[in-house]
Amino acid sequence: MSSINFTNEVEKRRDEIIRSTQAFLQINSVLDEETATEGQPFGKGIMNALNYLLTKGKEDQFTIKNLDGYAGTIEFGQGKDLVGVLCHIDVVPPGDGWTSPPFAAEIRNGNVYARGAIDDKGPTMAAYFAMKIVKELELPLSKRVRMIIGTDEESEWRCVDHYFEHDEMPTTGFAPDADFPIIHAEKGIADIEFGIPANEKIEEELTLLTFRAGHRVNMVPDFCEATLMCKNQKLQAKIEQQFQLYLKKRNLEGHMEKDGDALHIRVYGVSAHGMEPKNGINAGTYVGEFLHSFFSQPHPFLQFITSYLVDESRGQALGITWSDKVSGDLTINPGVFSFSSDEGGKISCTIRYPVTHTFEIIEKQLQQKMNEYNMRLTILSHSTPHYVKEDSPLIQTLQRVYEKQMGEKATLLSIGGGTYARSLKEGVAFGPLFPGRKDVAHQKDEYISIEDLLKATALYAEAIYELAKE
Ligand SMILES: [Zn+2]
Repeated sequence: MSSINFTNEVEKRRDEIIRSTQAFLQINSVLDEETATEGQPFGKGIMNALNYLLTKGKEDQFTIKNLDGYAGTIEFGQGKDLVGVLCHIDVVPPGDGWTSPPFAAEIRNGNVYARGAIDDKGPTMAAYFAMKIVKELELPLSKRVRMIIGTDEESEWRCVDHYFEHDEMPTTGFAPDADFPIIHAEKGIADIEFGIPANEKIEEELTLLTFRAGHRVNMVPDFCEATLMCKNQKLQAKIEQQFQLYLKKRNLEGHMEKDGDALHIRVYGVSAHGMEPKNGINAGTYVGEFLHSFFSQPHPFLQFITSYLVDESRGQALGITWSDKVSGDLTINPGVFSFSSDEGGKISCTIRYPVTHTFEIIEKQLQQKMNEYNMRLTILSHSTPHYVKEDSPLIQTLQRVYEKQMGEKATLLSIGGGTYARSLKEGVAFGPLFPGRKDVAHQKDEYISIEDLLKATALYAEAIYELAKE
């Protein structure tokens, strides 16, 4: 480990780092298809932010490159191997309710407030100054170091797709776009859809007309609404009475309205990220289970929910459970439900599977169930697990740097979500959010603490040097 005090080097540049971060955050870089043109595929704001950074890189005598407006690179050092630092400069729309304007980058209580402060323009600026410090100190390097500037991370990752089609994959690297200390394992992510045919035998006394729950596959649905046609008054009364008991049993809120023979049901659950369904209460699966019990002939859509999806976050009934030491359990979240009596039903789920597993096996297991039920399985999207082994030089180096500067253990993290690091062949997420800090990404009053911004800069500088040195 070097004897250079990177914290001091950052401190010497403190004002410049803060000023540059503010100026960078003052550029509104939300995706804007309306101002998209050739060479500016994601609109004017994103292009301005990219130009700001590339111009800075040029002034500081880095080698810069603009890849048709999809991505940019800032590079220095020499050698065959390439260390990548993968950042992004696009931000999600600010939304309402900000204390100061979202692109004012106002400083209050030692924090810079702006959309993009923590995700990911603040950390991008930290990584930039980290490179600048290593360069200015004229430290001998045996590798090249390249910042890869993504511009579409918050939408479709068309930036990294374009970059990796046209340019070089780094030998190793990190993405400052998630959490410290180090995220080295990210589960596989497969979004799938179960298609269920319409119920051919429409029962006389009870018919499910519509059913819908949830908006996004990666969220636990916090509402469900369904409409039943029930011609039997006695059965209607029974459903109404059981409804209240069921709500209580499952800890849900909801109400039921009668409109002639029609019964409208609305139930509220609790939303949570789909990578851990146990943190939420799935309104869709519970309404399915509740309604299922009133049908004398099994209703395929409701029966499928009841048999395979209620309280089944580990996919046991579907026969797809898997677990490993590094990344934990396979999880499945049914996030979007829709059914109509003429079109049948669809249930979209996100599956997060452990890093030692393969999706082909899961697909086969699901397909078996589908055949039994005369259902259709569609793979909406799939991204393989991302995993860098504990004993790799990348992990060892980042751990040493973190432990030296922070004086605490650099625990390796494994997550069910996906970070930008998964687009690198060998890459991990390294910061910027320190343990115990509130995650304000994508929220109103997003901020980065100035002390954390500077700490991250020092960590990135030493990491870059240690990864690329002679
Ligand atoms: Zn991000």
